[in-house]
Amino acid sequence: MFATYVLVAAASLSAQVPDNPIGHGCEYCENRGTEICENHDKDLLPLEEQVLFCSVSAACKKCAGALLVDCVRCNGGPDNILLESRLLRYERFAASPAAPEKLFDRPLTRIITEHYDILIDIDTVKDGTRKLNAHELAHAMAIELEAAAALLNEHFGAKPQDCSKRTRIWYWANPKDHKRVNLEILEQNSDMGFSLYGVNPATSACTAAKGLDSKALNIVSNAVHKGTHLRFSNLFRVEWIGNKKAGWFDVGAAHWYEDKVFQRVSTYCIDEANNDLDYEGGRWHVAMRRYLLKHKEGLLPDLLAQISGTLKEEQHAVAWCLYDWVATVHPKALKPLLMGYKDRKESRDLFRDFLGMSVLEAEQAWRIWVAETYPIKDPKPRKNL
Ligand SMILES: [Zn+2]
Ligand SMILES: [Zn+2]
Ligand SMILES: [Zn+2]
Ligand SMILES: [Zn+2]
Repeated sequence: MFATYVLVAAASLSAQVPDNPIGHGCEYCENRGTEICENHDKDLLPLEEQVLFCSVSAACKKCAGALLVDCVRCNGGPDNILLESRLLRYERFAASPAAPEKLFDRPLTRIITEHYDILIDIDTVKDGTRKLNAHELAHAMAIELEAAAALLNEHFGAKPQDCSKRTRIWYWANPKDHKRVNLEILEQNSDMGFSLYGVNPATSACTAAKGLDSKALNIVSNAVHKGTHLRFSNLFRVEWIGNKKAGWFDVGAAHWYEDKVFQRVSTYCIDEANNDLDYEGGRWHVAMRRYLLKHKEGLLPDLLAQISGTLKEEQHAVAWCLYDWVATVHPKALKPLLMGYKDRKESRDLFRDFLGMSVLEAEQAWRIWVAETYPIKDPKPRKNL
């Protein structure tokens, strides 16, 4: 068997050294020293390699999550280092179970990525004509969450370690389980979806809730949207801006990354009373172009005064549209705006300092940009994951 000392030895020995303890593998393992573990779904294997931890892989009796097994015909090869480092990583994550895993004392499907710690507890949900089980849904969610996280990181010059902790994302098929998690972990006496902002962010929802309707696309879209709010609440500094006069930025961004990934917005999570909202079918380019032509009066003074929970239905779309303008035309302003709002600074001052214009000038520039660049037809929304 292969030992962990090779990890250390590997750093100082080159593969050309004849008595290399790493080994050269054999013909059978194509000189890798390892073989791919056969216990895993071939379609999911590439996805397994993209995540830091998957509880389903971790439960594999042959590889314990390494996805590789030692070649039995030789003394090992270069891929044994990969095998060992994966095993160490899996051991580390397995040793710190998520709070709901401890609460329920039963195995839950858990996937950990650079930015997120995902728990899914369902039988199956629909995705177009397919059905996804918890494992498949968790991997699909991991992909989309990380795609949105990468966009956000690029905008804000952020790295995973710029958030205080990974954002915890939990979905439950059983409303009773969701309620118990709300009550006993998040300390909320509510049946509704709930998000905890700040130092150790989390969101929990029931997959059968209105708007999610046990559909994979809705659930993952919801996760991407909420993930943005939650990351904002601890990016660079722990401070939630949704309760300050920065609702447009908090909500606009959450809609923006959701739309960027799915070409459609379906989540209005801030105010539970807003659960029935579905402004213009969640496709907002054409709607906003029309809206701005119809509403010539200044929209920003009112919009910029709102907290996240007080935005009206169409203001969600206006906030998205304004964020779209800043993210596209003034991307360097995003980080100072976020940090300024965390400091409770006024939009008036932040716009002057980082957009180089007054609120009135910003409104004019934004309106012109929308009129000149928005398409006549909305981009086609994704129909499934
Ligand atoms: Zn071999
Ligand atoms: Zn997996
Ligand atoms: Zn395995
Ligand atoms: Zn939201």
